Amino acid sequence: MGFWTRVRLPSTPFERVLESVMFSAFFFCYTQGRQNLQVCSRQEYGWRSFVIIHGCKLIRRTVYIKILFQMVTAIIDKKAACVMLEKDYNRNIETNQNIGNAVDIGLYHQWEVINSMKYDYLIVGAGLYGAVFAYEANRKGKKCLVVEKRDHIGGNIYCEEIHGIQVHKYGAHIFHTSEKNIWDYVNQFAEFNNYINSPVARYQDELYNLPFNMNTFSKMWGITTPQEAKDIIAGQIADLNIREPKNLEEQALSLVGRDVYEKLIKGYTEKQWGRDCRELPAFIIKRLPLRFVYDNNYFNDRYQGIPVGGYTKIVEKMLNGIEIRLNVDYLAHRQELEGVADKIIYTGMIDQFYDYKLGVLEYRSVRFETEELAMENYQGNAVVNYTDSKIPYTRIIEHKHFEFGQQPTTVISREYSREWKKGDEPYYPVNNDRNNGLYEQYRELAAQEKKVMFGGRLGGYQYYDMDKVIMAALEMCRKELGNCNM
Ligand code: UDP
Repeated sequence: MGFWTRVRLPSTPFERVLESVMFSAFFFCYTQGRQNLQVCSRQEYGWRSFVIIHGCKLIRRTVYIKILFQMVTAIIDKKAACVMLEKDYNRNIETNQNIGNAVDIGLYHQWEVINSMKYDYLIVGAGLYGAVFAYEANRKGKKCLVVEKRDHIGGNIYCEEIHGIQVHKYGAHIFHTSEKNIWDYVNQFAEFNNYINSPVARYQDELYNLPFNMNTFSKMWGITTPQEAKDIIAGQIADLNIREPKNLEEQALSLVGRDVYEKLIKGYTEKQWGRDCRELPAFIIKRLPLRFVYDNNYFNDRYQGIPVGGYTKIVEKMLNGIEIRLNVDYLAHRQELEGVADKIIYTGMIDQFYDYKLGVLEYRSVRFETEELAMENYQGNAVVNYTDSKIPYTRIIEHKHFEFGQQPTTVISREYSREWKKGDEPYYPVNNDRNNGLYEQYRELAAQEKKVMFGGRLGGYQYYDMDKVIMAALEMCRKELGNCNM
C-alpha cells in the first residue's frame, strides 16, 4: 500500500458525482485484484493502487469527461484499475491549462481502510516522543496509527548509512542520561557503545578541549593547577560584580572569565542562536559542565553512548508492528484524520497547529553541508566546534568517530545555524521571555483540547535532550495509559 500526497475534497456537486464515480470504479477494480495496472505511472511514488487526478477546480468539464473517459476505457480494456494523471496532465491532453493542486483519489481508498478501523491513538510525528508513546500504547493493547510528514521515521535522530557510516542526518545526537531507568529503557532497543563525547573547540588556529576544564585552562593560560585557574577567573571578573546572572553573557563571564568567554563562547553562541549573548537566557550555557579537573567528558551524566548501528533502529524497534503512514502531513489532512482516532498525540509545532493565530514562535534552524571525503580521518574527532565568529559554520561533525569507524572514507557535516522561517525544519526553540510567554498562551489553548495532547521538543517548545524526551513521553504514557513497566 502506498501513501498519498495531497488532497482536496470535492467541493462542487459535479466534482462530488465525478469523484464518487471514479472512486466506485477504482474500488470495483481494487476488489477485482487489478490494482497493478496504470495508464500513466509516476515511478517515484512506487504506488500500486491509486487513481489520481489533478486540480479539479481548474479543470474544465471537458477535461473531467476526458479523464473519466480514459479511466472507463482503461477499465473496460482491462488495462487499468488505476488511472494516474500526471501533474502535467494538461500537456498530455494538449490543453494549456494551469493545473492546480492534486486530488488523490487513492486517499479515498486509504480513507476507507482508516475509517473502518477506528484507532485509539493517532500519533502525529514518528520521532522519539511519538515512537515511545506508540510503543507503550501498543503494549497496552491500544490501536495506534502513526503519521509522519517526512519520508522516514525517527524524527531528528534519524541516521542514514553512507558506506557503512551512520550519518546523523539532522545533527549529532549523543545519548546521555543520569537516570538509570531511562538508560535501561533505551537499552531495550539497541546496544550502546562506550562513546564519550569530548568535543574540541577551534578558535582561529588554537585548539581547546571542551567542556571547560583544566585541559582548557591549562592551554589558555599555561597553568597547571586548579587554584591558578580559579585565581585567573576570579581576577577577570572581579570588577564585573555579577551577583545573579541575568543573561547568558553574565552567566558565562561569572563562570569562566573573560578569556574563555571571548574565545570559546561568544562567537559560537551568537552564531548558533543569531542573537547577542546578552539577549539569551543563562540556562543555555548551564548545560555545559565546568570542571577544575582534567576531564574532557562533555556530559556529567552517569550513562552515555551511541547506539551501535545508528538511532533509526531504535525507533524502528519501537514502532515494530504499529501502523505508520509516511509522507502524511497531518495539518494538511486534518479534516480527514481528525476523526480516525479517539485521541491524538501531536508532536509537531504547537503554534503551527493553531495556524500561528497568537503569533509565531521562534526557532533556530540548521543547514547541514554533508560530504563524503576520500580519506580515512578528516579531523580526528567526532565534533569540532568553530568558536570564531568569522567562520560561518558552528561545527563540523565527522560521523564515523561516533562508532569508532575504520572505513576507508569519511563523511563530514558542516553545521550552519540560521533563523527559522515557515517551511524550514525547526531545530531549537528559542526559549527567551517573548517566546516563552507566547508558548504559555498556546499551552493554555492546548489545555482546552479534549482529544489532542501535545508533546516532544516542538509540541512542548523545549530545548530537550533525548533522555528528557523519553521521560516526558513516558510521563504522558503514565497519565494516559496508567502504569508503564519500565
Ligand atoms: N557553547 C559554547 N561554545 C562551545 C559549545 C557550546 O559557547 O564550543 C554554548 C553555546 O551557548 C551553546 C550551549 O553552550 O548554545 C549549549 O551547547 P550544546 O553543545 O549543548 O548544544 P547542542 O549540542 O544542544 O546544540
